[in-house]
Amino acid sequence: MSKCEICNQKVKTTYVCDGCGARFCEKCGNVKKLTCKDCISYDEEIKGGYKPEQEIEIEIEDTE
Ligand SMILES: [Zn+2]
Ligand SMILES: [Zn+2]
Repeated sequence: MSKCEICNQKVKTTYVCDGCGARFCEKCGNVKKLTCKDCISYDEEIKGGYKPEQEIEIEIEDTE
């Protein structure tokens, strides 16, 4: 038995993250890319364009 460092659950198999070296289970990251959940979200931030906290403001102009 190994322990996942992300969710702290005992799991059969853990994978070592390529980014931070954390041991994670299959639920806590991408096992094909060997990237834990933390590093996946970090990756998405770098790629840009994905800003969920930012709302688009639409200004309605009154032309009449
Ligand atoms: Zn986990
Ligand atoms: Zn990681």
